[in-house]
Amino acid sequence: MDAIWKAGKLRTGIMGGTFDPIHNGHLALADTAYRQLGLDHVLFLPARIPPHKQNRPAGATPLQRVRMTQLAISGYPYFSLDQEEMCRDGISYTKDTLLRLKRNEPETEFFFIIGADSLMSFDTWYHPEIICSCCHLAAAIRDDFPLEVLQKKSEELEARFQASVFILNIPKMDISSTMLRGLCRQEKSIRTYVPEAVADYIEENNIYGGSGQNEQL
Ligand code: ATP
Ligand code: MG
Repeated sequence: MDAIWKAGKLRTGIMGGTFDPIHNGHLALADTAYRQLGLDHVLFLPARIPPHKQNRPAGATPLQRVRMTQLAISGYPYFSLDQEEMCRDGISYTKDTLLRLKRNEPETEFFFIIGADSLMSFDTWYHPEIICSCCHLAAAIRDDFPLEVLQKKSEELEARFQASVFILNIPKMDISSTMLRGLCRQEKSIRTYVPEAVADYIEENNIYGGSGQNEQL
């Protein structure tokens, strides 16, 4: 990792997700956080088994999700891949990831970057108070959660868990991996929603195949 040390503390964004597949919404979210929060860089952390998706239908393999993430971030010098969750056995708890990062770099300020759906369910995550003690949250609007709802939720999390929440100024992006897997199954193009190299990789490996052999919904 090319750590860029400023006079003050290093500011690191963390973009966690299943990335099945990674899409332009993830990239725009991370890029906006990078710019608006003055981050030094952003780590992309594909989850091996996300706690809330333990029974998700089979999509891409973990290795394919890592490869798609690598391809997607390759044009951004301030984005990098962290494979620790992928290498760790069992469920990928954000709490464990944050504790590990903070232990390795106690002086760094971490910003965990999430969409509104994640912010709204944050209090159901495993040990939210520990996560909040390790990082700030950087949240963006998504789906049917408008800004006011996010602001109210942020205040609630600040009161309950001493969270420090930044709301990013970003237009709503109507895109999800679920939608893209659906388009693939219908043999429709997803090229406007993912980087070209990711679209090529998905097609070459028939990851979400039109015949539906990889995922039954
Ligand atoms: P899926 O539909 O499979 O759940 P997803 O598009 O929600 O996929 P995830 O990997 O679940 O992608 O998301 C990782 C993080 O990125 C989450 O915090 C999520 O809220 C955020 N995110 C993903 N897409 C968007 C979007 N279009 N706008 C804002 N945040 C987003
Ligand atoms: Mg999701």
